[in-house]
Amino acid sequence: MREFDVVVVGGSAAGITAAITCRRHYPEKNVLLVRKEEQVLIPCGIPYTFGTVGGPENNLIPNAVLVKNKIELLVDEVADIDCQGHTVETSGGETIGYQRLVLAMGSVPIVPPIAGSGKKNIFAIRKDVSYLNRLCQVMDTASDIAIVGCGFIGVEIAEECRRRHKDVNIRIVEMLRHCLQLVYDEEFCVRAEETLRGEGIDLLLDEKVEAFLGDGTVTGVRLASGNEVKADVVIMGIGAAANTELAKKAGLEIGPGRGIEVNRYMQTSDSSVFACGDCTDKVSFFDGKPSGLKLASIATMEARIAGANLFGTRRVNMGVIGVYSTLLGDTAFAAAGLTEASAREKGYRIVVGEAEAVNRHPGCMPGAEMMKVKLIFEAGSLVLLGGQVSGARSGGELINAISACIHQRMTADDIATFQTGTHPALTASPISYQLVNAAEMAIAASSEVSSRRGI
Ligand SMILES: Cc1cc2nc3c(=O)[nH]c(=O)nc-3n(C[C@H](O)[C@H](O)[C@H](O)COP(=O)(O)OP(=O)(O)OC[C@H]3O[C@@H](n4cnc5c(N)ncnc54)[C@H](O)[C@@H]3O)c2cc1C
Repeated sequence: MREFDVVVVGGSAAGITAAITCRRHYPEKNVLLVRKEEQVLIPCGIPYTFGTVGGPENNLIPNAVLVKNKIELLVDEVADIDCQGHTVETSGGETIGYQRLVLAMGSVPIVPPIAGSGKKNIFAIRKDVSYLNRLCQVMDTASDIAIVGCGFIGVEIAEECRRRHKDVNIRIVEMLRHCLQLVYDEEFCVRAEETLRGEGIDLLLDEKVEAFLGDGTVTGVRLASGNEVKADVVIMGIGAAANTELAKKAGLEIGPGRGIEVNRYMQTSDSSVFACGDCTDKVSFFDGKPSGLKLASIATMEARIAGANLFGTRRVNMGVIGVYSTLLGDTAFAAAGLTEASAREKGYRIVVGEAEAVNRHPGCMPGAEMMKVKLIFEAGSLVLLGGQVSGARSGGELINAISACIHQRMTADDIATFQTGTHPALTASPISYQLVNAAEMAIAASSEVSSRRGI
């Protein structure tokens, strides 16, 4: 039997990051990473394998990252965990001893029990090279592609299908009123919808899939409204469920969100077993209530906490904020934290500030584009709850600064007066810097409300 200080199960965003973090914090410990696939896809790059990057083989995480960090790799599937004996068993017949175990088994795509969902040419997005290659082949002979779900995965896949095929009909079916509705307020959703429609992508909003049609192979989709649309390929983009089978079998607790239960230090119900990434249960940063968010940025944050805490408590998980970004056409869309709607749902009274400006100064500098920032604060305290950005590509980085402001519970005054670095070729002018001005607008709106109320 081989023995390691640390065994990590899972070789994607969470597993790799937990292993690297462990090596950084505890360089004397030896680490084995076990993953079941020979080649690991960059999960967030999957939509781009259909178009921009030219195939799944061009979207892989290199093993070099493990070699560089002196992490041993075993390609095999962990089939059983013996928590008492501190061992795991693999399908390949190995028994491996551990002092600490990190579970990072990720998630599997959700396929809802819709009539006909077993028909040929209906795909869910699996993180599997040969499966995605098969989907690419089927797409190449398709004339009608239907995508179910108009969240980030759905819209990115739709654009990449368009990039692959100029002539194919592409339709996205979404049961909510707007695309990306769970992440953005309406005005941002409408802008995203205009971009997608401008690319010839048909959006069937407020429509629920009732059944997939066809004998054996899918030929169409019937909607609850009674409408039917043609489809010779269906791609499901409606989310993922935590992969917990192995943990359940080992007797570890499962949380209310159906992920592996972990405490704020990323320890499971067995103190020698840690878990991180899509396979774990999550709580919201804002109210500590269960959260269904599953993102690579969350997986790696949790992995950095788990890896650092393996042999001593060093970090605490504050809960998930939820930070998203994407590019539709030439427009970046990014969001962090709560939207107006989700803040109200959580019971907050809110104040909103917005600012839009060109991202260079003067505006005739090369690369000048408009960028809009919207910030949502708690009324009264003016603590930042959320932000949304659209326009220039730099919005994809600005949203990370907004996330840091949320994490640090910064107020509108903190944001209005913090020192920004600006440059004509790189940013908006210091006078019209969007983030700062959106905070100023919220302060102004808040004073207006107070004076109207005579406070
Ligand atoms: C199409 C798509 C686009 C996305 N885009 C974004 C994005 O832009 N930004 C973002 O933040 N998030 C994005 N996500 C979400 C992101 O991919 C996930 O949050 C992330 O992959 C989670 O990482 P993970 O390591 O927890 O799990 P996974 O990526 O699911 O990896 C799990 C790993 O565990 C291995 N494994 C499982 N069971 C075993 C076993 N028994 N033995 C050995 N190995 C095992 C698997 O083989 C795999 O290596 C996207 C997801 C999809 C599907």
